[in-house]
Amino acid sequence: SLEQGPEGPETPIQVVLRVRPMSAAELRRGEQSALHCSGTRTLQVSPPGGGPDVAFRFGAVLDAARTQEDVFRACGVRRLGELALRGFSCTVFTFGQTGSGKTYTLTGPPPQGEGVPVPHNLAGIMQRTFAWLLDRVQHLSAPVTLRASYLEIYNEQVRDLLSVGSPRPLPVRWSKTRGFYVEQLRVVEFGSLGSLMELLQMGLSRRRSSAHTLNQASSRSHALLTLYISRQTVPPGEPPMGGKLCFVDLAGSEKVAATGSRGELMLEANSINRSLLALGHCISLLLDPQRKQSHIPFRDSKLTKLLADSLGGRGVTLMVACVSPSAQCLPETLSTLRYASRAQ
Ligand code: ADP
Ligand code: MG
Repeated sequence: SLEQGPEGPETPIQVVLRVRPMSAAELRRGEQSALHCSGTRTLQVSPPGGGPDVAFRFGAVLDAARTQEDVFRACGVRRLGELALRGFSCTVFTFGQTGSGKTYTLTGPPPQGEGVPVPHNLAGIMQRTFAWLLDRVQHLSAPVTLRASYLEIYNEQVRDLLSVGSPRPLPVRWSKTRGFYVEQLRVVEFGSLGSLMELLQMGLSRRRSSAHTLNQASSRSHALLTLYISRQTVPPGEPPMGGKLCFVDLAGSEKVAATGSRGELMLEANSINRSLLALGHCISLLLDPQRKQSHIPFRDSKLTKLLADSLGGRGVTLMVACVSPSAQCLPETLSTLRYASRAQ
């Protein structure tokens, strides 16, 4: 478990792998599992048609039997929350092909109807972190102000999921005091778990309403919910700016050619790949001890701009790589596993 991980933000990126259960459709088609978890940190991949297994090691490997609560604990998200309370910028993101369980891991299964809440036991990392945070701030000696924003990056355009009225693309700017930020983004102050959950529901239902025709909802956009935590009095030796905790549901990492996309879809595909490639590139440079921070190309995509402060030093980033166990998904699974192992 990463709960026992290092105290401070000296390990910039932690990677957890989650294998979802076989879906009903995969079982119906008689697909076989190509993945085996051995121990708590190693995943074995059996190549189809025989040959030796290939092993991948991660901070934690969570098999299909692990519950949402298990995943929340194993990911050590509370530790990221504590760092955010101390003024650091932390990010949790899910990575993987469409259908691998990214959204399920962050926010649980899709609702059974409009306004129907996710059952408690199926709540994802986000709802669990929200509940933890709202409880935690009650016990702080110094009062904090909590605010949230929720946006989508689609086609390299930022769309405010909490905007009043119809959203239009918002520019990403940079300033010396704020770093990268989205101009005119709605940032909503909240004081209770209930009101934060309402913001989440609002964003989730807006994401669904922008569903893509060829794909299931929201597989082509990145969604970022950010919690801003500002202390009214800053303890000595800690950053003057408030902490941030950002949750990112990344677009599907699959090769878009496979969906037969054309025209506008191809443009989207390139933009998605651009953000994911830029993210992978920034991460690998960050992990290279020879590199100075000034050389990290955060400006290459909207996604990396907005994650720059949590990737670039003052924070911890947790990547939850999500995969299907099915042998049918193995080519995509292997590319997810390679991307994820490079990130640690
Ligand atoms: P993604 O966001 O990566 O496209 P989803 O989170 O939507 O994938 O998951 C695809 C489907 O599989 C959904 O119906 C989801 O509810 C289901 N699913 C994903 N992970 C799990 C899991 N660990 N347990 C049960 N169902 C899951
Ligand atoms: Mg999804």
